[in-house]
Order: sequence, then C-alpha cells, then structure tokens
Amino acid sequence: MIAYIGIGSNSGDKKKYIRDALEKLGMIASILQCSKPARFAPYGVSDQPDFINIAVKCETAFEPLALLDELLKIESDLGRVRTYRWGPREIDLDILLLDRMVLYLPNRKNPLIVPHPDMHKREFVLKPLCEIAPEAVHPVLRKTVRELLDDLIADTKG
Ligand code: AMP
Repeated sequence: MIAYIGIGSNSGDKKKYIRDALEKLGMIASILQCSKPARFAPYGVSDQPDFINIAVKCETAFEPLALLDELLKIESDLGRVRTYRWGPREIDLDILLLDRMVLYLPNRKNPLIVPHPDMHKREFVLKPLCEIAPEAVHPVLRKTVRELLDDLIADTKG
C-alpha cells in the first residue's frame, strides 16, 4: 500500500523531531519520497511557534489501523505531550492518503478517517504534499492535490 504521511513539529528542536520521526517511519515502511521541510504559521490557535512540516510518500505492508497505531507509537516514543486541541506539539504524524482508499472509522479509541478529514483545508499539508504528489487523487473530492491546493489558495484570496 502507498501511504502519504504528513509530519509536523512546532515545539523544541523541530528539525530533530522531524528527522527522528523519519528515521522511525523508515523502520516500519519504505520511504520513497520526501518533501523539503517548510515553515508555516500555526493553525487554529495562533499564539504559538511556527510549524515545520513535511510530506512523505512511503510503501508499507501494515493494514491501515495497524499503521495508525504505529504512527501514534512513534509520536509517543518521541515524547509528544498532548496539550489542548491545536496546541503546540513536539511531533505529529497524520495519514493523509492511502492508495485510493476511503475509510471512516470515527468510533474507536483512536479514530481513523482517510483521506485525512482536514487535509484539503490546510496549506501546511497541501503545499509539501503537492511538491511530491501533485497528481495524487483525493478519492472523495475527486481532485488532484494540485487542484486542491489551487482551490485553497483561491479561497484564501477571497
Ligand atoms: P492529532 O491531534 O492531529 O495528532 O490527532 C490524533 C488523533 O486523530 C488520533 O487519535 C487518531 O486516532 C485521529 N485520526 C483520525 N484520522 C486520522 C488520520 N487520517 N491520521 C492520523 N490520525 C487520525
């Protein structure tokens, strides 16, 4: 299965958190492509440090729920401390796309929704993703990543 994963950090040594997350991701998946790290203003709650975000294309044999558990384990192994929603985070790994799969499993301890439910609203997700996968298709919105990014930029310009 091809997975696109978004990784972000806005607390502590952000670049090191991202490097360490990539190293751990490399132990559970083959990393095929990786965007440049990019800096973004925080989303939701603005009174906190900037984020560094990257997008990664990888191939993994894990089933989706097992993959989510592995990503959450990487977050806790790297010492993520959960504060409040949209609060500062040492490291965040999100499943953005899994092949052309659509999954809606909201009623679990660790819910899983794929494509990631907010990916099309977030420049910090779409910009790095567009660098490595402009033609990847969002199977619900039926648009490519490049189209989603263009739409988002047009919307923010009002
Ligand atoms: P966050 O605060 O962004 O790290 O949210 C983590 C929670 O989002 C986890 O408990 C996951 O169960 C849930 N979640 C739902 N869909 C996804 C997804 N596509 N990728 C990662 N986490 C997800």
